[in-house]
Amino acid sequence: MAVRKVLKYGTASLREPSKDVHKVSSKIKDLVKDLLDTMYTQNGVGLAAPQIGVNYRVFVIDVSGEKEPLNPMVFINPKFIKKSGAFESDEGCLSFPEVFTKVRRYKNVTIKALDAKGRSFVLEANGGTLLTKALQHEYDHLDGVLFIDHARNIEDANEKLAKNNLPQVEVENLISEPELEEEISREN
Ligand code: ZN
Repeated sequence: MAVRKVLKYGTASLREPSKDVHKVSSKIKDLVKDLLDTMYTQNGVGLAAPQIGVNYRVFVIDVSGEKEPLNPMVFINPKFIKKSGAFESDEGCLSFPEVFTKVRRYKNVTIKALDAKGRSFVLEANGGTLLTKALQHEYDHLDGVLFIDHARNIEDANEKLAKNNLPQVEVENLISEPELEEEISREN
């Protein structure tokens, strides 16, 4: 369909919670195509609808390697049905060009969602894989949460944001995750 503009950190709508999809209509199918086109053009691993200015609960992921065939995955109205463990994830985001920092994530997650045809499915991603990270990262976008809200080292995040002319970490949006932090610190 179309490659869309990816909104950058600092845009107010990235902080807005997104609405449920009531019907996987042709409008939603077009949105999915735009998300995939945009994600592939930007060489991203995932992209959520609010990142292209559409506040619906839809995201796409493709964790296939460079020499593997494309493997687009579509998640509509996703919900985590299980979360456990913790690990330190080094992450970036298409809304934060060139910024990478370490964040706290669950190590194992199980998600339930609808696919691009409106069929329900359940997917497990265990062991802190790229998919485990991407599911949590993209899901967060639907709640207006950004990866830097989970940052382990705020100074490091701020330094990288400043270097790339992006606003600083929003202290009021930081998420306190003592259990995750404790488990990560214990393992390191
Ligand atoms: Zn992102």
